[in-house]
Amino acid sequence: DGEDLNPEEVEFEKALRPLSFDDFTGQAKVVENIKIFVQAAKQREEPLDHVLLHGPPGLGKTTLSHIISNELNSSIKVTSGPVLDKPGDLAGLLTNLEPNDVLFIDEIHRLNAVVEEYLYSAMEDYKIDIMLDSGPSARSVQIGLNPFTLIGATTRSGLLTSPLRARFGINARLEYYDSGLLTSIVKRSSSILGMPIEENAALELARRSRGTPRIANNLLRRTRDFAQIKGNGTITKAITTFALEALDVDAHGLDEMDNRILSTIIEKFKGGPVGISTIATACGEEADTIEEVYEPFLIKEGFLKRTSRGREATELAYKHLKIVPPSRMG
Ligand code: ADP
Repeated sequence: DGEDLNPEEVEFEKALRPLSFDDFTGQAKVVENIKIFVQAAKQREEPLDHVLLHGPPGLGKTTLSHIISNELNSSIKVTSGPVLDKPGDLAGLLTNLEPNDVLFIDEIHRLNAVVEEYLYSAMEDYKIDIMLDSGPSARSVQIGLNPFTLIGATTRSGLLTSPLRARFGINARLEYYDSGLLTSIVKRSSSILGMPIEENAALELARRSRGTPRIANNLLRRTRDFAQIKGNGTITKAITTFALEALDVDAHGLDEMDNRILSTIIEKFKGGPVGISTIATACGEEADTIEEVYEPFLIKEGFLKRTSRGREATELAYKHLKIVPPSRMG
């Protein structure tokens, strides 16, 4: 996702990552469909169609890709758009795939154009052209690949070119999790960590996690430290509230950019309506990122409204930022 996790965080995420569909909480519709596609492909002994997973960071795109490959009884090779610099990098990965393996490309919207084009024939016909020799004796030969499944993940589906998008047979959008689902995820994680947690503490963590399992797990990890040092080992509601306060987690779990977007609309644009590109410039963030990463959550939680004339801050946003709303809002 373009987020940089330190090695400790990577280990932690691995430990908590669900390994089967049964372990994966939420996204019911997406999971239900994918299960069927996986089963059908297995029955036909064919590779699963290429899958595009989109949605904000930390919602389970990587996790789901690993689960898909587990359920296909195949291996998964993991790479990302920015890492694949040259067609040769991609060729190396593709030629090493066994039949029906999964190639996972994270941040697929960041593939460079040359590599992307190279991917087309691999996806379509399981064939690639490779160059032999250089200079006057250079020639290209076509080689066949084992049939495979490409799973592409992106936070910015709007940036995908249409030829690439068209080559995915399965297209799924992951949604933010509600607090009930996140509560289950927090409880599951604490049981894996061997850390008892009270129901209302799990709910509080869930409510403040921006609808995102990765954030819920990270907050749990920090809260566990507080419970260990300041408490008696059980994660209680009181310890959780204390930890969240100490960590500066906002009552709704909004992050710094969420708050900056809202305060910009309110303070610089009188609460809106204001166009997305104007907001983007004022916040120093790309318009696409605001649209695909931040805005969906702010809208879902009722802080932001999308109107035909642009974005508007809601009364809830004023309240949240402790700013008195203009009288028109009552
Ligand atoms: P993405 O690839 O969308 O950024 P990840 O798949 O890396 O997100 O998920 C981040 C972390 O959140 C994972 O380590 C996993 O433990 C947890 N997670 C994500 N989705 C779920 C889920 N549905 N159920 C339980 N844990 C989840």
